[in-house]
Amino acid sequence: MALLQHVCSIPLVRAVRSRSLSNISISIPSSRAPIVSIPSPSSARVPPVGSRVLLGMSEKELQQLAVDFGQQCYRGKQLHHLLYKTKAKEIEDFSHLPKAFRYDLKEAGWIVGRSPVYRVVTAADGTVKILIKLEDNRLIETVGIPVEDDKGSQRLTACVSSQVGCPLRCSFCATGQGGYSRNLKRHEIIEQVLIIEELFKYRVTNVVFMGMGEPMLNLKAVLEAHRCLNKDVQIGQRMITISTVGVPNTIKKLASHKLQSTLAVSLHAPNQKLRETIVPSAKSYPLNAIMKDCKDYFLETGRRVSFEYALLAGVNDGKEHAVELAELLHGWGLGHHVNLIPFNPIKDSEYRRPYKKAVLAFAAALESRKVTASIRQTRGLDASAACGQLRNEFQKSPLSALDESESESKSQSIVSVG
Ligand code: SF4
Repeated sequence: MALLQHVCSIPLVRAVRSRSLSNISISIPSSRAPIVSIPSPSSARVPPVGSRVLLGMSEKELQQLAVDFGQQCYRGKQLHHLLYKTKAKEIEDFSHLPKAFRYDLKEAGWIVGRSPVYRVVTAADGTVKILIKLEDNRLIETVGIPVEDDKGSQRLTACVSSQVGCPLRCSFCATGQGGYSRNLKRHEIIEQVLIIEELFKYRVTNVVFMGMGEPMLNLKAVLEAHRCLNKDVQIGQRMITISTVGVPNTIKKLASHKLQSTLAVSLHAPNQKLRETIVPSAKSYPLNAIMKDCKDYFLETGRRVSFEYALLAGVNDGKEHAVELAELLHGWGLGHHVNLIPFNPIKDSEYRRPYKKAVLAFAAALESRKVTASIRQTRGLDASAACGQLRNEFQKSPLSALDESESESKSQSIVSVG
């Protein structure tokens, strides 16, 4: 790699020094324990202790980190391999690296950033739902969905979470019902994909940000995870889908990154009035504003937006709704593709799953108006397949009173955005 040499600057053990140090000598806590003179406090790129997480760092950053620890540049490349190929979980597992380097990393507060698997549930169709226990004991769900296509090749989709819970409280969603506690950090998103690869013992081919949480409310970490999944884990951008129910001003922001990934917008209703009853946060982001942002997204990126529509029996699954949806999409020049998702029943829900006949009629009404529609196969019904369902089973009161009030204020701040 020709660029390899250029990314590494002068070896200094910057990564272990305090931000406040200036022109002083410090003793490095390693078996080699050299005394190093540090000329300036330019440690801006060293994250504070507590957030020194290796997972999520690029090869270039890892090379620089190695150099900062007085190591050769190629050690960074080895670190990269250990994180993303070997999938090492602890610094002790970095057996390729010198003992002293491992010691220095640990002493400086660096961690890999992997969490333990708390529970794995496998459905009859092979879908695997995994609960991951985060460092603050909160549980998140991630789902691995294996699919064999017509030509017999195997795809493996990872449906990843972006938040612990969700503050948007869509009325049909188990995650929304379970409350919200916090955004996931980038490594907590990335590790979901690695865990699925470990469990299935083959590579994830597709990633959909359709698990717990609203990705656009955690856009910074989602974009960082996206970069890593694309560049480091090597999943093609076109194989990644970011889904949103709509958060004001974020579609524009995403468009500015000009990703080659798919944006999936969850409409769930063909008009504002009905949508507000299903998606409470829709009050702050009128349907027309979403459609305009989708159109601008297409103009900016050249990527067509796909639309998600959860079919709820007797609520939004009538032929008249399909006709109105087709008119809405054509009105904005966006009448291309709709994914229909027959509602997956959740406990205590007011909604019912539509009959197959109604689903097929809805799809046919769209198709006859030149809107292509696919009906999403419900995977893993016996594994509490609806998003958030399994987490709710195992973490009945995950969100303390404080969390709940945080959730309330988050909800309100979302309503007031934009
Ligand atoms: S559907 Fe998505 S945005 Fe709505 S509450 Fe569930 S996780 Fe949140």
